[in-house]
Amino acid sequence: MDFQLNAEQRMWQETAHNFCQTELKPRAAQTDTEARLPLDVIKKMAPLGLLALPVPEAEGGPGLDVLSAAIAIEEMGRACGSTALSVAAHNGLCLSPLIAFGTAEQKAKYLPALMSGERLGALALTEPGAGSDLAGAQTTATLEDDGWIINGSKAWITNPSLSSIVITLCRTDRDAGTHGFSLLIVETDRPGFLINPPEKKMGLKGSPTHMLTFDSVRVPHENLLGEAGRGLQQTLATLDGGRIGIGAMAVGLAQAALDEALSYAKERQTFGRPIAQHQAIQHMLADMSTEIEAARLLVYRAAWLKNQGQPFSKEAAMAKLFASETAERVAFKALQIHGSYGYSAEFPLERIYRDQRLLTIGEGTSEILRTVIARRVLE
Ligand SMILES: Cc1cc2nc3c(=O)[nH]c(=O)nc-3n(C[C@H](O)[C@H](O)[C@H](O)COP(=O)(O)OP(=O)(O)OC[C@H]3O[C@@H](n4cnc5c(N)ncnc54)[C@H](O)[C@@H]3O)c2cc1C
Repeated sequence: MDFQLNAEQRMWQETAHNFCQTELKPRAAQTDTEARLPLDVIKKMAPLGLLALPVPEAEGGPGLDVLSAAIAIEEMGRACGSTALSVAAHNGLCLSPLIAFGTAEQKAKYLPALMSGERLGALALTEPGAGSDLAGAQTTATLEDDGWIINGSKAWITNPSLSSIVITLCRTDRDAGTHGFSLLIVETDRPGFLINPPEKKMGLKGSPTHMLTFDSVRVPHENLLGEAGRGLQQTLATLDGGRIGIGAMAVGLAQAALDEALSYAKERQTFGRPIAQHQAIQHMLADMSTEIEAARLLVYRAAWLKNQGQPFSKEAAMAKLFASETAERVAFKALQIHGSYGYSAEFPLERIYRDQRLLTIGEGTSEILRTVIARRVLE
């Protein structure tokens, strides 16, 4: 057992860390207040491979191992939650299924623009009436001579306003139960495809989230991603991998909260000494550091298992569950350590606190993850 990153991974971590701290972090507050991603910084991610994390070298990507990809998302989360969410969704929810299930033609057609930072990718699963219960999705795709016709709506979708394609989960056979779904690649300029105004959110405000309407949107046969009837299974496999990314983002946000708390605790004086010298504050900092280490190890282990080609579904669920709930506890304590200043929008902690709150909800709520884990441990 080796708990060290190898030399290549250490170098990659340093590169990602330096880029995120110098380019992303200084723009994080503005990204939040203006509710707009720093697209110029995101474009600069392309040559580093940050916009092609799951893409093998043979397909023009950096050919990273799964752990390195997770480290990159962790570093983004530490610097800017909004950018981390959008880039994690681009890599984990759009590029990953394209790489796993796409044909050579689909990869050749869509990957170049997506890897260049010109456009980000999106995956549309959730609907106004179906989130956790994806088998309840009602958006339909009907097969006709010249392709598929899609009708319905999707809700809470990250990135579509910046995307060239939205991979969309559709019901393609009403009588086939969980084998009645397929994933279709929908180009965002197709007639009948409507991106509704952005959602006004509590946090991660720079990351665009939209409801989508499909009004008889036609896509050709060749836009089917993977096998017809396997859409739900392909989706669940995608979400297993995506959870490693969201877990990594949670570790990054928790680390950012700890970074802020540590520097504040060393500076803020009460009763004639820095608050870091009060035992109550020290205990909070100790708990925060310990939980972050545990969360990081769970995320790294899930990434390692995936990289080895071993089953990782339970471990990814555990990692995402624990890391997201750790981020919540750590952000709470970090804000407590800041006193009133933690409640002020002038300090980064207020944004970090709001940003991390999504993480126990998106890509599997804590309740659903506990169900997934319980099913596995009861086998
Ligand atoms: C900022 C943001 C970005 C997002 N990005 C995307 C995206 O890119 N693509 C996409 O498809 N979706 C996206 N989502 C949607 C997100 O994945 C869903 O919100 C999430 O899956 C939960 O679904 P829901 O909101 O419908 O909650 P529901 O499924 O309605 O759940 C409501 C509550 O009931 C609980 N619950 C539900 N079923 C059970 C059960 N069986 N047992 C116990 N408790 C249960 C849940 O845990 C939750 O607490 C995004 C959401 C947000 C807020």
